[in-house]
Amino acid sequence: MDCNRCDEPAIMHAAYSGAHLCADHFRESVEKRVRRRIRRDDLVPRDASPDDPQIWVVGLSGGKDSVVLTRILHDTFADDPRIELVGLTVHEGIEGYRDESLEACVELADALEIRHEVVSYEEEFGIRMDDVVEDDPENMAACAYCGVFRRDVLSRYAEALEADLLLTGHNLDDEAQTALMNVLEGDVAQIAKHFDASLGPLSEREEQEEFVPRAKPLRDVPEKEVALYAHVDDLPAHITECPHASEAYRGEIQQLLYGLEENHPGTRHSILSGYEELAGIVADEYSGDDGADLRECDECGSTTTREICRKCSLLESLV
Ligand code: SF4
Ligand SMILES: [Zn+2]
Ligand SMILES: [Zn+2]
Repeated sequence: MDCNRCDEPAIMHAAYSGAHLCADHFRESVEKRVRRRIRRDDLVPRDASPDDPQIWVVGLSGGKDSVVLTRILHDTFADDPRIELVGLTVHEGIEGYRDESLEACVELADALEIRHEVVSYEEEFGIRMDDVVEDDPENMAACAYCGVFRRDVLSRYAEALEADLLLTGHNLDDEAQTALMNVLEGDVAQIAKHFDASLGPLSEREEQEEFVPRAKPLRDVPEKEVALYAHVDDLPAHITECPHASEAYRGEIQQLLYGLEENHPGTRHSILSGYEELAGIVADEYSGDDGADLRECDECGSTTTREICRKCSLLESLV
C-alpha cells in the first residue's frame, strides 16, 4: 500500500483516521498534532520574549514517550529564543531499569544540546525504590509510593529551575485510560483537578499559585505511533518495563480500551475529547472550592491539605 500523500510505501495504517503514511509523512503528521496541541493549550504566552524566556522543564524518563516529546519540542523551538528547554530525569533506585534509561536520557540531551538535570530518591530522601518494595510498610503497590515521591521531586525541581511549565510525555492511550478511570471511579472532584493541573488550555485554567502548571502535548498521539516515531527517528529510547510496575486497575482499563478501539476505531479520541469538554465544565463548577484548606506541611513546608504531607508520612513509615 502506498502513502496517501506521496508514492512512497506506507509504513503505518491508522484505523481511526484511515490514513496510510510513509515514514516522512508519518513523522510530519505526529509533529503537526503536537504543535497543534501546543497552540490549542496556549502553552506559549503572548508576552513571552527572548529577554525573559519561558523555561520548560520536560520530565525525561528515557522511555519512548518522553524521548519523542523532547525531540519534537526541541525541533519546534530550536530557533525560538522565547523557549528554553531543560530535561529533568528522576532516578528512583531501581536496579537494571533506571540506569539504562538514564543513559538514553544523557545521550539524547547531548545530541540535542539541551540542559539536563538528574535527581535521585536516594539523594533527596535517602531511599531506593528497590528497598521500599522490599519493606512495604504501608502494604501498598510500588507505584503508590513512587508516584508520591516523583510528584514531590518534579514539582520542587521545577520550582528550583524557575520553570514556567512542566511537560510530560503522556500519550493518547495514557490519558484516555486516566479519563475512563476517573469517570468509572465517579471522582468528579478529581476530574476538575485534572483539568486545572494539566489538561485545560493555560488561559482557561484556574490559577494554582503553589504548583507549576503541567502540560501534555503528546496526548493526541496514540502510544503505538509514539513508539513508531521513536523507531523511525532512531531515538535512544529505553523500552524495558519497570520491574515494579503494578497498576492493576489501569492494566484492566488498558485491555478494555484495546478491545473497544479494535471494534470501534476512534474510541480513545472520542473518550478524551468528550472528557476534556466535560472536565472544563466541571472545573468551572468547582472553581474557588480548591485551595481553601491548603496549608504548609509541618515537616517539609510543601503544600498539603493535612498537617504532614503524604510524602513525609510515607518517609516516616519507611525509617
Ligand atoms: S512503574 Fe511504578 S514503581 Fe516503576 S518507576 Fe513507574 S511509578 Fe515507579
Ligand atoms: Zn508519503
Ligand atoms: Zn512534607
